[in-house]
Amino acid sequence: MALTAFAIAASLLAARCSGGNGIMNDPNKAEVLATGPTALDAAASEYVRIVLALGEHDSDYVDAYYGPAELRNAIRADARPVEAIRGDAEALHAKTLALPEPESEIERLRRDYIKTQSAAVIARAAMLSGVQLTFDEESKALYDAVAPAHGVEHFDELLRELDAELPGDGAVSTRLDAFRAKFVIPTEKLDVVFQKAIEGCRERTLRHVALPADESFTVEYVTDKSWSGYNWYQGNYRSVIQVNTDLPIYIDRALDLACHEGYPGHHVYNALLEQHLVRERGWIEFTVYPLFSPQSLIAEGSANYGIEVAFPKDEKIAWEREHLFPLAGLDPSQAEKYYRVFDLTAKLAYAGNEAARGLLDGTLTEDSAALWLEKYALMAPERAKQRIRFIRQYRAYVINYNLGKDLVEAYVERLANGDPEARWTIFTELLSSPRLPSGLVSR
Ligand SMILES: [Zn+2]
Repeated sequence: MALTAFAIAASLLAARCSGGNGIMNDPNKAEVLATGPTALDAAASEYVRIVLALGEHDSDYVDAYYGPAELRNAIRADARPVEAIRGDAEALHAKTLALPEPESEIERLRRDYIKTQSAAVIARAAMLSGVQLTFDEESKALYDAVAPAHGVEHFDELLRELDAELPGDGAVSTRLDAFRAKFVIPTEKLDVVFQKAIEGCRERTLRHVALPADESFTVEYVTDKSWSGYNWYQGNYRSVIQVNTDLPIYIDRALDLACHEGYPGHHVYNALLEQHLVRERGWIEFTVYPLFSPQSLIAEGSANYGIEVAFPKDEKIAWEREHLFPLAGLDPSQAEKYYRVFDLTAKLAYAGNEAARGLLDGTLTEDSAALWLEKYALMAPERAKQRIRFIRQYRAYVINYNLGKDLVEAYVERLANGDPEARWTIFTELLSSPRLPSGLVSR
């Protein structure tokens, strides 16, 4: 069965290489491709097949797929059990370990990508078969990273700083809620504010990043989701971005969502991978994106750090004061104060990891984890409930946002050495390469 599916994948790969479906259209690659698929190409095809097969058992698993529909249909018809897919992934992983050392760095990154991603497929398949992992074991197995643990003292110290910034009586969370209430984007102004934010992010990104000419995305407003925003990449440089309007959306979320989901975040990351790796190099493994995999740490980390790349702190406040606050009908003179408080609350992001750790490791119940989020992440009860729902669905994935951002930022800043233009160059290079979390520290 595996052979049949592999033969289909290989023939489809050949069709792509010959330009049969218009995906491979770079004449410079003709000579390379004429030599036929390499061992890495074969491993890549097997990887796509395995990820799609596991996706048949886990509806959240395949976040994007824009390869041939025939391949997915063939895999759907084949219906391999989870245990068999796990065996396939183990065989693929063993094969990648035995591959000769590639000559170029990009080929080495590609080999390491298939190796590390296939190890994560094994782990996810094991989880689907009932294997229980701790929070740290799961994040290591799925995301190639382990988040530092923080005790209550760490968060208490941050809460003391917020206490001083928000004078008055009552709990800090109550005062924060009252303060933030003045910065909610009115529902009827949400789209105009969001579209302006997208325009700002896109314009700044285009100054530094060459994007495919026909890239674009559409925005939809949805409800009843565990997440606040989502990018569904469609292929052909198109995304559908969904914004969840279940809860009030504060002014900081406009640029945050526009950059994170759009420019230079997920939309740009996916478009650059498609352009440079799938179309220019014919690397089929990037036509599929398994959500529970190391690639997600790079995706979420770069999307979060990308906000600061596009809008360094002072520029962000000035731009929002001039454009977004007036459009949302908010008092622009409060922008600096708002972001002083916002920066302090942002440092509480790791409190979400501790709630997830407690929930997954069995040291917190859902109710006590929600209370933890209210106390240490300063979430309103409804937002804490939404986050618990997210943790139940996505589990250790939470580390990809905060640890991911810190790892990507450290990597880019180390190589850029304070040069703003180099920051964009290194950042763009990361978004166009197969680099994974462990590769962020080794370069
Ligand atoms: Zn994201």
